[in-house]
Amino acid sequence: MMVQLEEHFYCVGCGKMVRMYEAKSLFRTGFFRVVLPLGCCSGCSQV
Ligand SMILES: [Zn+2]
Repeated sequence: MMVQLEEHFYCVGCGKMVRMYEAKSLFRTGFFRVVLPLGCCSGCSQV
């Protein structure tokens, strides 16, 4: 059940995978066992 990680990042606000085009800020941190970008989506950043 691998999602397309290259097109997603983990939103620390939502706590779930969000598509890259919704990214507001990315932290690019190692996460899980692969390099998975962390960030905030536009929705969380507006709070
Ligand atoms: Zn979010």
